[in-house]
Amino acid sequence: MKAYGYANHSPTDKLAPFTFERREPRSEDVAIDIMYCGICHSDIHSARNEWGGTHYPFVPGHEIVGRVTAVGDKVTKFKPGDLVGVGCLVDSCRHCQSCKEGLEQYCENGWTATYNSEDKIGGTPHTHTFGGYSDKIMVSERFVLCIPENLDPAATAPLLCAGITTYSPLRHWKVGPGQKVGIVGLGGLGHMGVKLAHAMGAHVVMITTSPEKGHDAKKLGADEVLISRDAEAMVVAANSFDFLLNTIPVGHDVNPYMDLLKRDGTMVIVGAVEALTKVSGVPFIFKRRTLAGSLIGGLPETQEMLDFCGEHNITCDIEMIDIKDVNIAYDRTVKGDVKYRFVIDMATLMNT
Ligand SMILES: [Zn+2]
Ligand SMILES: [Zn+2]
Repeated sequence: MKAYGYANHSPTDKLAPFTFERREPRSEDVAIDIMYCGICHSDIHSARNEWGGTHYPFVPGHEIVGRVTAVGDKVTKFKPGDLVGVGCLVDSCRHCQSCKEGLEQYCENGWTATYNSEDKIGGTPHTHTFGGYSDKIMVSERFVLCIPENLDPAATAPLLCAGITTYSPLRHWKVGPGQKVGIVGLGGLGHMGVKLAHAMGAHVVMITTSPEKGHDAKKLGADEVLISRDAEAMVVAANSFDFLLNTIPVGHDVNPYMDLLKRDGTMVIVGAVEALTKVSGVPFIFKRRTLAGSLIGGLPETQEMLDFCGEHNITCDIEMIDIKDVNIAYDRTVKGDVKYRFVIDMATLMNT
């Protein structure tokens, strides 16, 4: 099946129009016309091969919202016309313990990412997967999500990565009323963390270096702001947090944040994949604190997150762009110059 999108062909190449093949529909497949696709920082790292292992040509995009155009004969959950989403995963082994528990993102045999992954289905390794900066995609039913019709579909697209990445740890560590929760960093992930933790009933504190970002966070639902550069305020806030969601996207010193946790408190890293600065054993031993990490979410939990957002009317704050401006949007994302996610209007592919 012919598809049309944007790809780059080397780490230094700009994204540009690209025609390619999608697989023919199989009995459990859902064919989707893509309406919107968010720009995640991971798209940029991968396009520029900053994490290694990028296969070219490379089509990014794993925050996909679109309409079903056709379904295979074994598909039961979807029909043509349904509003659906696709996130970071399009397949997994489906039989390991993690897959059985609906935690496909921890598949013990390696999951298939929406882009830049080997498409293992059918046992014939062929081309790598191509992401959502394109007009259509073919995805196995298990990896397709229902999008609540009351939400703006464009602003819903980033929920498929930024939303679930923050929702999953908030749920896993049972964040809720009566708890003081800190969201560290205000970008694509942090702004969703604030909205979701607030909707779950927690007392939300934005922890940021920038007073201006603190002001923005209050508009998103934060109850308080803690400026992490203010040494005195950090001392006052020590031992007071039940949970910290750390969305800082680069390696950094986590020690000052660990000190903010109460006894038995947990800080979860969702942004940084680089080395963290040496951590002292003292904050762990003396207060039985935990430092943990979390990766996106499985399919059942991603659907739960979308339904939760539908009930609470939560979407991302976005800036919509034409696909021809995607390279400019990449540069602005790297500079942190976006509130808080770019979303590509895929209808603009027609003009390129
Ligand atoms: Zn992402
Ligand atoms: Zn598995």
